[in-house]
Amino acid sequence: MLNYFTRQSAQRTLNLGMLLALFLPMALFAQQPQTITKKGYTLHFHAQNPDFDAVQQKRLQNVFFTNYPKLVKDFNKNSLKEVTITIDTAYDGVAYAHNGKIVIAQAWMEKMPEDIDVVTHEVMHIVQAYPPRSGPGWLVEGIADYVRYKYGINNKAGNWSLPELKEDHHYTKSYRISARFLDWIENNKKKGAVKQLDAAMREKTYTPEIWVNLTGMELDALWDAYVAANKA
Ligand SMILES: [Zn+2]
Repeated sequence: MLNYFTRQSAQRTLNLGMLLALFLPMALFAQQPQTITKKGYTLHFHAQNPDFDAVQQKRLQNVFFTNYPKLVKDFNKNSLKEVTITIDTAYDGVAYAHNGKIVIAQAWMEKMPEDIDVVTHEVMHIVQAYPPRSGPGWLVEGIADYVRYKYGINNKAGNWSLPELKEDHHYTKSYRISARFLDWIENNKKKGAVKQLDAAMREKTYTPEIWVNLTGMELDALWDAYVAANKA
C-alpha cells in the first residue's frame, strides 16, 4: 500500500511538472519575439505591446509567408532568408523597411486592420535591396505598390486600389500613381518591364535610356501616351 501511494504521488508530481514544462514557456513566449521558419524562410515577429491582437499577428505573418517567397522567386533569388517585423507602439507613420527589418505602426494597424498588405509592399523593399543611388525614388515606391497591386491578398477588403488617373498626376508622384503607370506599360507597351526595371536598379545599370530600350519611347513621351490613352 505504501508503495502504491508513493507511486501515485510521484505520478502526480510528474504530471504537474509536465504541465508546467508545457505551459510555462508558452506563457513567456507570447511576450517575446516569435520566430517562425517555413520553407527556408525565417520570420522574427515582435509586437512591442504583448497585448497586440493575436489574430492580427497571425494575419500579418500569413501575408509574409504567402508573398515573400513568391517575390523572392520572381524578382531576386538572393534576397535575405531571414526578416524581422516589429509592430511599433511609438512610430507615427505607416510602415518602413530597411536591411531586412520591417517596422509597422501599431496605431496604423488598429486604425486600418484590413490593410495587412502593407507587409506585401514592405517585403518588396527587402527583395529590391537596391544599392544607394540606383534609380529614382518614385520608381522604387512605384514598383513596391505595383507588386502590392499584383500580389496583395487583401487589397479589396483593405479598400486599397490603384486610383483613376487625374489631371494633377505625374509618374514622379510615386506610390500608386506610378504603380498604375507601370501597370499600363506592362499591359500596353512591354510585358515584363517591371522585372527588368527592378533588375536594372539592383545591378545599378538603370539609366533613362532603359525606357527607350524597353518600350521604344522616352519616359516623358511614355507618360504622355498613357495620359492620352486614358482620355480616349
Ligand atoms: Zn515603400
